[in-house]
Amino acid sequence: MHSDLPKFTVEIVMTNKVRVRFAPSPTGALHIGGIRTALYNYLFAKKHGGDFILRIEDTDQTRFVPGAEDYILGSLAWLGLNTDEGIAQGGPCAPYRQSERKDIYMKEALRLVEEDKAYYAFDTPEELDEMRERLKAAKVVNPVYDNVTRMSMKNSITLSQEEVQQRLDRGDPWVIRLKVPKREDVRLQDLVRDWVVVNTANIDDKILIKSDGMPTYHLANVVDDHLMGITHVIRGEEWLPSAPLHVLLYRFLGWENTMPRFAHLPLLLKPTGNGKLSKRDALKHGFPIFPLSWKDPETGEFSEGFQEAGYLPEALINFLALLGWNPGTEQEMFSLEELIEAFSIERIGKSGAKFDIEKAKWFNQQYIKLKPAAELSAFLHTELASQHIECSPEKAAAISELLRERITFPAELYTKGTYFFAAPDEYDEKIVAKKWNEEAVSILSHYALALETLEGVFTSEAAHITLNKVLEENNLGMGRILQALRLALTGSGAGPDLFGIMDVIGREEVIHRLRKAINQLTYEKKA
Ligand code: GLU
Repeated sequence: MHSDLPKFTVEIVMTNKVRVRFAPSPTGALHIGGIRTALYNYLFAKKHGGDFILRIEDTDQTRFVPGAEDYILGSLAWLGLNTDEGIAQGGPCAPYRQSERKDIYMKEALRLVEEDKAYYAFDTPEELDEMRERLKAAKVVNPVYDNVTRMSMKNSITLSQEEVQQRLDRGDPWVIRLKVPKREDVRLQDLVRDWVVVNTANIDDKILIKSDGMPTYHLANVVDDHLMGITHVIRGEEWLPSAPLHVLLYRFLGWENTMPRFAHLPLLLKPTGNGKLSKRDALKHGFPIFPLSWKDPETGEFSEGFQEAGYLPEALINFLALLGWNPGTEQEMFSLEELIEAFSIERIGKSGAKFDIEKAKWFNQQYIKLKPAAELSAFLHTELASQHIECSPEKAAAISELLRERITFPAELYTKGTYFFAAPDEYDEKIVAKKWNEEAVSILSHYALALETLEGVFTSEAAHITLNKVLEENNLGMGRILQALRLALTGSGAGPDLFGIMDVIGREEVIHRLRKAINQLTYEKKA
């Protein structure tokens, strides 16, 4: 560690409006880690009354994937992470798509060349290969184009001014490279990682403008963050190694005084904790990795998203917020508003956060429990519609209430309650073996009869009282019969309040199911 460096303090100078950006590249579906980055940017901006900007970094034309931009917009909209400026609504720094800002980058790159901070390089791919081979043969560990090797290459440092001009006039292919100084420490104080110091001996002469005239990520990113007035760059840890280069660029461009503060977020780790979370891990453990479903336009491969898997946006937000940040209290449940209130960069951890899908499910359960009745009923109606099943609003509301505490995903309002719509055809064999006996058959037959002659409105209470009477007559307790009764009505040995179920399915159906079970199960036992 560099002990001469000032002690780490997070100082957010609030003289200017906070402006942050989420800057994905449209190379495919957004990984869940990208969503977390967007979320932290959003929370930080809103906490400080600032702006959250969406910029599309599409300068690598070879990696452009059609549909990816809409996917990004759709994902942010689903999660309620509304942007203040960006490709959708425009804004004072438009355009927000880097491919439309080509001239801006070229102008800055040419200025750097003029000021001797960058240079033209004309080397062909073969010449570059040759250079690497030469360096490898000389046992250079990291053979790159840098402040040493540049001297033996074809560029505007080694060639005469006339030859450079000739080549440019002739239309020879060229790139612009950064003239990285020799052996200088570049330092930056990251808001999460504290001081990062890198010697320029370890930075190569990065290409700023490619031969197609497009800028590289590094140049475009720095130029845009400056021109868009970005005050804080909050992004994934994979960009930390590039940060010193960016600092160097700010210095060379003369923008060091207004350079944004950096905060590099810890990695999302595999469920086992060893290594970075990948799409393959998600597949292996059977959980989504993308917010929305995605069909790869090239391979046709389909991936189900968190949305289609039944995760609620508020649950996913809450789960992601705590993957790398902690509120410093025991509180786990946070609405988006509460997250904005509580969020601070100081409480972002340095170490990677294990992706525990069970925790995501737990959050989903909690948010389902809190859902207003009408929303749960609406979920159930959607499920039923896809199964072409009719259901009255009253019945949907009653089912939702009975299952609310027992489900993790909205689809389970139907899948865990199919018995609300049809008599069971199969019965849990274990419960049959344990609880289906002559006594049960006798009591349930009596019960069916008693229900048949029951007068007045059929309610869960009436069903309960009637069963009590039958049991009293036989000198038996409720515990003796409940599971057999549940088995007959639902096919399984566990579930929500049994009398509530009876109320929903109605007297006739209860009687029908009791008789069906008595016939079917007794017959099976004898056979
Ligand atoms: N375009 C980069 C990405 O796809 C953005 C990195 C940054 O935020 O600086 O992750």
